[in-house]
Amino acid sequence: MMDRRPFLRGLGALVLAVPFGCQTRSEGSGAPRTGQPAGSPVITPMQGPKGGCYSLDHGVRVQPVEHLERPCALTAANIEGPYYRAGAPKTGDLRPARADGVPLIVSGRVLSADCRSILSGATIDVWQADATGHYDNDGTMNSEVMRFRGLVETDAQGGFSVTTVIPGRYLNGRKYRPAHIHVKLAARGHHALTTQLYFPDDPFNAEDPFIHPSLVMELEGDTSGKRGSFDFVLQPIA
Ligand code: FE
Repeated sequence: MMDRRPFLRGLGALVLAVPFGCQTRSEGSGAPRTGQPAGSPVITPMQGPKGGCYSLDHGVRVQPVEHLERPCALTAANIEGPYYRAGAPKTGDLRPARADGVPLIVSGRVLSADCRSILSGATIDVWQADATGHYDNDGTMNSEVMRFRGLVETDAQGGFSVTTVIPGRYLNGRKYRPAHIHVKLAARGHHALTTQLYFPDDPFNAEDPFIHPSLVMELEGDTSGKRGSFDFVLQPIA
């Protein structure tokens, strides 16, 4: 069994004192998106009250919560999707200079198949939609600039941290995909892995054809800032 609690306890009292960019929400951005299927729950982009602007300028202390133990298992692969771009900037801060949305820090470790051996120097290529459900290369913005993409490397303890915002949902055909974050992992002596991280309690998790339950992050915090935790487990090359 992989007991992640000692590690997570250490993270639980972290003070999120990161200044997040903030801009006025454009008119109508809080309304359901065009094309929402009939009969679906009314879903608005994941933005906050008072113009959708969240700030952690004053610091938000995220209280530790009880975490479930997960069985030791290789992390499941998940679809790459159509929005991957190679060449993401080497940064753990995915946010552009100004970004609406609920602040989010995702952290964890990259481990080998025994769930004990840490993999330092592993790379994690991360990409996601912005808080309104748009990728920088979906034709809605200037794709010259990479937004909400970053390449991070695990430290000597196998740890990583990514600072971003909660991604918005977007339509895949007639149905919304639940909020998710895409990742590609590479570590010496291990098979590469492409997968996605999901959020607990997203109403669209239940009907998404791609989600795997083991890929749902642990999440704590509130609308002023959230913190997700996930340990990736990679398969050694035989
Ligand atoms: Fe996606």
